Amino acid sequence: MPLTRRRRKVKIVATLGPSSSSREMIEALFDAGADVFRLNMSHGSHEDTARRHALIREIEHARERPIGILADLQGPKLRVGTFAEGSAMLAEGAPFRLDSDAAPGDATRVHLPHKEILQALEPGATLLVNDGKIRLRVTACDGTAAETLVEVGGEISDRKGVNVPDVVLPLAALTEKDRRDLAFVCELGVDWLGLSFVQRPEDIVEAKALAAGRAAVLAKIEKPAAVRNVEAIIAAADGIMVARGDLGVEMPIAQVPQNQKKIIRACRRVGKPVIVATQMLESMIHAPVPTRAEVSDVAHAIYEGADAVMLSAESAAGEYPVEAVATMNDIAETVEADPVYREIIEASHVRIAGSTAEAIMSAAREVAETVQVKAICCFTHHGTTALLAARERPRVPIIALTPFKSTARRLCLVWGLHCAFVDEVERFKLAVVSAARVANRDGFAATTDRIIVTAGVPFGQPGTTNILRVAYADERAIYEGEPA
Ligand code: PGA
Ligand code: MN
Repeated sequence: MPLTRRRRKVKIVATLGPSSSSREMIEALFDAGADVFRLNMSHGSHEDTARRHALIREIEHARERPIGILADLQGPKLRVGTFAEGSAMLAEGAPFRLDSDAAPGDATRVHLPHKEILQALEPGATLLVNDGKIRLRVTACDGTAAETLVEVGGEISDRKGVNVPDVVLPLAALTEKDRRDLAFVCELGVDWLGLSFVQRPEDIVEAKALAAGRAAVLAKIEKPAAVRNVEAIIAAADGIMVARGDLGVEMPIAQVPQNQKKIIRACRRVGKPVIVATQMLESMIHAPVPTRAEVSDVAHAIYEGADAVMLSAESAAGEYPVEAVATMNDIAETVEADPVYREIIEASHVRIAGSTAEAIMSAAREVAETVQVKAICCFTHHGTTALLAARERPRVPIIALTPFKSTARRLCLVWGLHCAFVDEVERFKLAVVSAARVANRDGFAATTDRIIVTAGVPFGQPGTTNILRVAYADERAIYEGEPA
């Protein structure tokens, strides 16, 4: 099978699950357009995770293309205990108690197996159960139990999720399970760690210390406290996810779109990747075609300049995983071909601050707009220069060349980057040769086409991009025709 070159800038993240566990299916998702696979640590065993991880790496090897893997840690997701009958009906206006008693619950009470939460609750606080379908208002609490009034009733059942939007919870972002999962996936070798229910920048700092450079850390913004702290959280994290599922439960749902826009803009300003996630093509869990509203939602995230759009249950547990990825791919190619897309992206262009690398990458975009070049090829060690190139949102493709597999895989999440793993080079001339070779091989430029090459000299020092060169993508001409 020939190499896959994407014809779009925005990236697609596909969650794997029961519907997408075989090698054939994962490969079909990759062929349909998935750039990064998400392993959701809330579901499945370590064995499932290890199996899917191994299959992705096999496909990566067979296709000779880097593939990103995002391990999404569950975080402090709160859940009620169980019910004697499996479920109970809560009537509006009735009292309902959450307590520390592990005995099965009924229509009057249930166990809440998180004593820190029972201690942190105050009268007046809202508790949302089952994706916000049930609303409880705390009337009294003594640290071991909370009395509540049912404001919106409905059926409550075993281990349903609980959200407490009004209270900054005295919880570390990493539970014991998260710590075990983190150690396990870092040992396996994943590229990104997703951190759920982040509340403060310190949560990221802690996860980064545990990951110790083995994976980049992505903060999921799904709590009002995280929205309030978003600039500091973006500064601490390597990437961001607009996790609209829990965000839509924890804050008024009509405020989710404005926060999506705000978060995307804040990420684009600093040049860190941002994923828009959850319910993007929800109806495709059971149908081969999406709704108009879903197509519009995916399109608008792309018009906004997000780095990636994500599928959750659509690809993990749905009936049409490949169709869902293909639909996103089609929407992306269509939006990006629209002149209005370029207008919007250019109108939101980020002004640069002042480092040499920023100036070079900004110049690369300008040169690419002035003379005919087929790609901007940038050498990058840890990805910093490639992120700066992507932040410019240039019209032409960006080829990120790196001697580190881990960098190539992480960058799969980033807007516009075609990542390639290449040997370390020691002289600029050889960097140009290497860039030309990849640009030819991967179908970006013929030998009569020109490319832009950027790199940092002396080689081997990260973060020193200081050269910009326009060259023909002809490795023999470069090699034979020029001084070192
Ligand atoms: P989840 O996160 O799917 O892990 O809950 C995404 C979200 O809440 O939107
Ligand atoms: Mn969530």
